[in-house]
Amino acid sequence: MSASKDAGGTVSVPLRIPFNRPTHTRLVDHYVAQSLHSGHISGDGDFTRRCQELLSGLLSDATILLTTSGTHALELMALLLDIGPGDEVIVPSFTFSSTVNAFALRGATPVFIDIRRDTLNLDESQLEALITPSTRAIVPVHYAGVACEMGPILDIANNHDIAVVEDNAHGLFGAYRGQALGTFGVMAAQSFHETKNFSCGEGGAIVINDPRYVDRAEIIREKGTNRRNFFRGLVDKYTWVDIGSSYLPSDLLAAMLLAQLEDREWVWEHRSTVWNRYAEGLADWSRLNNVALPFVPEHCQTPYHLFHMVMPSAQSRDALIAHLRAEGILAVFHYQPLHLSPYGQRIQPVSSCPVTEEISERLIRLPFYTNMDPVDTEAVIESVCAFAVEP
Ligand SMILES: *Cc1c(COP(=O)(O)O)cnc(C)c1O
Repeated sequence: MSASKDAGGTVSVPLRIPFNRPTHTRLVDHYVAQSLHSGHISGDGDFTRRCQELLSGLLSDATILLTTSGTHALELMALLLDIGPGDEVIVPSFTFSSTVNAFALRGATPVFIDIRRDTLNLDESQLEALITPSTRAIVPVHYAGVACEMGPILDIANNHDIAVVEDNAHGLFGAYRGQALGTFGVMAAQSFHETKNFSCGEGGAIVINDPRYVDRAEIIREKGTNRRNFFRGLVDKYTWVDIGSSYLPSDLLAAMLLAQLEDREWVWEHRSTVWNRYAEGLADWSRLNNVALPFVPEHCQTPYHLFHMVMPSAQSRDALIAHLRAEGILAVFHYQPLHLSPYGQRIQPVSSCPVTEEISERLIRLPFYTNMDPVDTEAVIESVCAFAVEP
């Protein structure tokens, strides 16, 4: 899953174009300096509050709490749902380990669901067959920021009274039928890791759409104490009231994040420019070589998180990675299926996800980041187009 490994392992050509660079925007340095000198660099300072208010305004007035990572937002969701041993959680196998770890940490059993060939999102037509009396949650992951089929997923979940929680690590500011991703489930997890569209190095947020979870989320995030109510003047001292952990990021990191969130349209414009240039520049080549470019359904708005391609075979995928690496360009694979991983096999040995297995062997992600130089985008296109898939 690492984004920095060479396909061949021994390549010595210097890297010209990395796979990722963290997003940087004009106000970052200024806000970080302001935070540094503000006298408040622990969690829940002014910058954290401003990030949360800004995100809430863009996500249907949901309650937003910044967290130390997307992984921790997922863990917080599993705690809030009171997931425990004997419970089953339906998750795609084609995702990052954190999506499943959050629930495995509580002792739950993952039930892996296969993906659709077009969007690489969980295949909602297989949901019904995987539901049992023990199913407690369904976790859609919006791959590359393109929405899962939330209409049918919510219908099925509601019929069985099962919670839907979104792993929206890729999908901030993406939409499904005009509604923002992250606002469909009872809760959603966001990530601000350096590989994501908006980043503060390590960071995340929980989006809480069902107000019943808000009070307890604040308590668990603050080491199991009612400290937030104390600061609001609602109680005259704060004390230990529940289990908890420390999921608040430093306000310094929130300062970095706020600068980027305020410049979201600039970020969006830059990312859409690179994405569309790839799609256009690779259209003929992909058709001639039987390569699938990313598919975005009409009713989905992508936030342009990744640019991936599905090659005709595992061999051609590996050969293209090596071809690009020899020209100093780092392209990478994505998601070794979790159901085949050593830990996945241990806790869930019976899974059938043939599409996941086939696609993950053939998938390649091209260098793609907000501040990508157009000269580099053209260089990648040129290198890819110089590669012919062996028939
Ligand atoms: C990045 C990512 C996470 C984890 O986020 P961190 O902030 O790195 O902990 C979870 N799920 C998916 C799908 C991700 O891409």
